[in-house]
Amino acid sequence: MRVAITGAAGFLGSHLADRFLADGHEVIGYDNFLTGQPENLAHLARERRFDFVEHDVSEPFTVTGALGGVLHFASPASPPDYQRFPLETLRVGSLGTSNSLDIARAAGARFLLASTSEVYGDPAVHPQPETYWGYVNSVGERSMYDEAKRFAEATTMAYHRSCGVDTRIVRIFNTYGPRMRPHDGRVVSNFIVQALQGQPLTVYGNGQQTRSFCYVTDLIDGIYRLFLGRRVEPTNMGNPGEFTMLELAALVLELTGSNSTLEHRSLPADDPRQRKPDITTARTVLGWEPKVPLRDGLRRTIEYFRTVVTDGR
Ligand code: NAD
Ligand code: UDP
Repeated sequence: MRVAITGAAGFLGSHLADRFLADGHEVIGYDNFLTGQPENLAHLARERRFDFVEHDVSEPFTVTGALGGVLHFASPASPPDYQRFPLETLRVGSLGTSNSLDIARAAGARFLLASTSEVYGDPAVHPQPETYWGYVNSVGERSMYDEAKRFAEATTMAYHRSCGVDTRIVRIFNTYGPRMRPHDGRVVSNFIVQALQGQPLTVYGNGQQTRSFCYVTDLIDGIYRLFLGRRVEPTNMGNPGEFTMLELAALVLELTGSNSTLEHRSLPADDPRQRKPDITTARTVLGWEPKVPLRDGLRRTIEYFRTVVTDGR
């Protein structure tokens, strides 16, 4: 099969490309490097089954030749990134999604949308099942991302219902691992890079807010299964292990052996207080659940960031 992946130079998009290539498929990647890095694809430079097109997918595009799938991963994902690029984020969630769906429709290809746990906002239901409709501030400081993804989900379902496109939606919960940008501002990359550089770990608020962290190989395995499976309705994917940011900071300090201190900063507006996926659907429908505990995933991610930080990136 030949698949198109938007956001292929990003953290998740590049791992997804690797996964399809490892299973013998052909991949054509699209990215405009808004938040991605060419280094994430450097290892594919000589791979004949991989093509890359530098393109802003919020602008229309066409793909020549047969296509079995379109996986739409293009979008800033880190809060500082999407807050720095609010209009780009809204455009890629709206226009980028319909452009990618148009490609799938024209080719008769399956489409998969990378959605997010942010569609649940600051959730009043805990853990979050797919049936929860969310609690989102439509004009708040995270709204450009949350509403873009909610709109992207609605667009995907409209193409499915009215144009017959075969669609999938994955709601991804916080995922971490090698190829995150060291300064993308997300908590895992921040804490690890700060610990490795002997700088204080920046804990926002009192650090009692929770997140559930999934290691990248687990997530990619789940997305691959979802893509090949039959379920059209949104499916949560993440690791249900739930940690406070203070617990995460302590674990990063332990695993890096760092003497860094903690420095509390103000809590960003609308920062969700708690988040944990209910993955009953993925377990039952796909037989999927994460395997890598946080401690092991962090060890592997720390090794990656050690090299990156030594390289001076
Ligand atoms: P990332 O920032 O590393 O990757 C996003 C990629 O999209 C980047 O390479 C960027 O350059 C590219 N991009 C952005 N706008 C584009 C445009 N208009 N045209 C072409 N390329 C564009 O982020 P990530 O963590 O890899 O996230 C990938 C996808 O997964 C995003 O859609 C994100 O919303 C979703 N997601 C990720 C997480 C997570 O924890 N990593 C959680 C929920 C959802
Ligand atoms: N956070 C933190 N220190 C940082 C970066 C983030 O304490 O240096 C907190 C942030 O306020 C949030 C949690 O960590 O409560 C997860 O933040 P991240 O940006 O990784 O993801 P998201 O908020 O999108 O879940």
